[in-house]
Amino acid sequence: MKRRTFLAGAGVATGLGLSTPAYAQKRYRWKLVSTWTPNLPILQDAAVLFADRVEKASGKRLRIKVFGAGELIPALGVFDAVSSGSIEMGVSSPYYWAGKAAAAPLFATRPFGLPAQQHRAWIRADGIKLWRSLYADFNLVPFPFGDTGPQMAGWFNKEIRTTADLKGLKMRIPGIAAQVMAEAGSNVVLMPGGEIYTALERNTIDATEWVSPFLDERMGLYRAAKYYYSPGWHEPCSTLELMINKAKWEKLPNDLRAIVESVAREVDAWTLARFEQENGPALARLLEKHKVELRSLPAPVLKKLMQITKDVIAGMAASDPMAKKVETSYSRFRASARAWSDIGEYAMAQALRLK
Ligand code: CA
Repeated sequence: MKRRTFLAGAGVATGLGLSTPAYAQKRYRWKLVSTWTPNLPILQDAAVLFADRVEKASGKRLRIKVFGAGELIPALGVFDAVSSGSIEMGVSSPYYWAGKAAAAPLFATRPFGLPAQQHRAWIRADGIKLWRSLYADFNLVPFPFGDTGPQMAGWFNKEIRTTADLKGLKMRIPGIAAQVMAEAGSNVVLMPGGEIYTALERNTIDATEWVSPFLDERMGLYRAAKYYYSPGWHEPCSTLELMINKAKWEKLPNDLRAIVESVAREVDAWTLARFEQENGPALARLLEKHKVELRSLPAPVLKKLMQITKDVIAGMAASDPMAKKVETSYSRFRASARAWSDIGEYAMAQALRLK
């Protein structure tokens, strides 16, 4: 009798749908396209890790198939593909989209700007609201998706001794720094990562920036250029992005959205840690094994670039309302963080130089 009652009860419960809510039965199969080549360490690994973690955390309710640059669409086609909704997700950098929205690169980094941890603090505090508002015009929802940490000024086949050496220099460099270099008289070229090595090797360009020691070594840039310059004035950090088509995002159930958001945060922290783990050993190999000539940009050159940067950003803020909002928010954050970082991180970095 007891057994019969129990079975009847179970039957009722199942009949009412109490075992699995209806919304949890819908399964999603999404595509993710990336700006990074299929085997690019860290950056493309992050996209693969993200898809894998979301699939596991969602019990396969959200499965994401990852495509590298050129596998489905070209490297710099990510923004349009996700914006149009033909693809649900993309992984790239807001650095690349100045042609879509002038303010977009400001979410990645800016020349002579904040280091990674402060940039992230600004993004989480205020930047993300502005970033979401900007991308909403393109039917996109952006998420910070890792950071490379500080980059290198790049690989040069011509030495930079004075500001005059910037004139006529043919350099691959994207973002706001591209405008700065153009103002300094350089001949600026925008090309995706996959094309850099050949362009440098064939002298189509005199110089390129890419990332930092680990990825620069992977690309073999030390074989195509003589000098490796620091500091990475143009990218003191570089925030990467996950973008999701807004309409698709809004139709996703709340629990799957929470999973996507949490895994994006996990990948965000993971990426910066991976760069920090790999860059030290890679720099040692570049110097010792590959005999790379390390150079520092001279102070007058940096000063000149810094001055032009101020003018370029002021010009952006004057001509673009969103750039002005971002600039105001960023400057306010920077001013409030400055006193602490001066006696915190920067004071410690100076202390470590004491002999
Ligand atoms: Ca770069």
